[in-house]
Amino acid sequence: MAAAHFVFVPLMAQGHLIPAVDTALLLATHGAFCTVVATPATAARVRPTVDSARRSGLPVRLAEFPLDHAGAGLPEGVDNMDNVPSEFMARYFAAVARLREPVERHLLRSGAPRPTCVVADFCHPWASELAAGLAVPRLTFFSMCAFCLLCQHNVERFGAYDGVADDNAPVVVPGLARRVEVSRAQAPGFFRDIPGWEKFADDLERARAESDGVVINTILEMEPEYVAGYAEARGMKLWTVGPVALYHRSTATLAARGNTAAIGADECLRWLDGKEPGSVVYVSFGSIVHPEEKQAVELGLGLEASGHPFIWVAALAFLRELEARVAPAGRGLLIWGWAPQALILSHRAAGAFVTHCGWNSTLEAATAGLPVVAWPHFTDQFLNAKMAVEVLGIGVGVGVEEPLVYQRVRKEIVVGRGTVEAAVRSAMDGGEEGEARRRRARALAAKARAAAREGGSSHANLLDLVERFRPRHVAVSEAANGTTAPPPPPRQ
Ligand code: UDP
Repeated sequence: MAAAHFVFVPLMAQGHLIPAVDTALLLATHGAFCTVVATPATAARVRPTVDSARRSGLPVRLAEFPLDHAGAGLPEGVDNMDNVPSEFMARYFAAVARLREPVERHLLRSGAPRPTCVVADFCHPWASELAAGLAVPRLTFFSMCAFCLLCQHNVERFGAYDGVADDNAPVVVPGLARRVEVSRAQAPGFFRDIPGWEKFADDLERARAESDGVVINTILEMEPEYVAGYAEARGMKLWTVGPVALYHRSTATLAARGNTAAIGADECLRWLDGKEPGSVVYVSFGSIVHPEEKQAVELGLGLEASGHPFIWVAALAFLRELEARVAPAGRGLLIWGWAPQALILSHRAAGAFVTHCGWNSTLEAATAGLPVVAWPHFTDQFLNAKMAVEVLGIGVGVGVEEPLVYQRVRKEIVVGRGTVEAAVRSAMDGGEEGEARRRRARALAAKARAAAREGGSSHANLLDLVERFRPRHVAVSEAANGTTAPPPPPRQ
């Protein structure tokens, strides 16, 4: 029987690209043909991973599409979200949306099997037209937890912020069994806090509402009520497929995940091998957030004072001084660039993760059975931090309640060294409470592995996707929901 062909259209940003590629690779291990659409510099970051999967026989390929920089009025080289100056962000999104036509043309003429499903990041409303042009269903891909999606959906659906003048005033998220408080500044809605982006935010919502299903990098058993709640609120089928990082089983592919690491896997492992189990604090704020100098000083001093060995993904030259102090004694390892995060977290020496609570990082911590120090900065990170601290009980907060950037204005928020030290000590030592947190984290790790194993929920969902989107003459809604409907018009 012919295989499904999934076309992945990730947002060109590491936090979206990495899980999309891992999901494609997992689907390919179950026999589906997968195409990942990417701009050239973005594709370069994941090419080693995709090439190694191809060499092992997986039917997966990268399809590169350069942006029309001149036509879009974009500086040359702007290709990925982490190198787009904020004043060019709107033009960047417009340029990416213009890829629809070349992508569609390529997919119909490349000689590859005809696509059967588009799996597009929620930030690409234009992918609905791409799917319509190909006459296939469009699924929305989120690397977010269902808790975050449902909270965000409910505050908007029930107008929870209506009449609340203070953007930092906490409101209760409606429609949940648990009491969760959130402020408009913490959870403004996707792109809703950026002046001038109202239409884009509306387009995103329309595309989400009209899509044929949802694929999420989360674990059903970790948040069953929120997975069910979001599927019901949207009235569509939802496939949980996480943790997709578990696709990577070898040191080599773990170390190359998402980019070329700034440290050799061997050097990193040698350093970790010399440490006691559970003794090392890993510190990273993901691919977008980089602490400024004042904050970095406090963080460095707080880490040193905690007395625990640490690995810190650093970017500021003045930290060479700290490095000179801590490196010779083996007390700290600074990584100057991309870190092999998944490799570090899965090492037995890792003991806790100081994280900005990007969802990938949060899920990777849970998958490794590690408690987190939750230090959200913006976007979905506040809801993810609540997920880690309040829902899962594996996190210690650093007490940041306001986003660092809101409505394009950057605040001066500095977490002091004393707070850093106390939070790290609490996550690493923490007496009975700390032990309970670690126990809960280990239980989550067991759930994560069980979900990904044969017979587990995520494994079963991947198989279901591969089966349901095989080429056959079924309607979009039939494939996505198991209901019958008239078939879509044949493509001219
Ligand atoms: N990551 C990594 N090395 C780094 C920084 C990030 O491997 O030095 C990976 C990390 O493992 C995660 C992703 O990049 O898979 C970051 O996604 P997340 O949602 O945590 O944060 P974002 O970068 O989107 O803010």
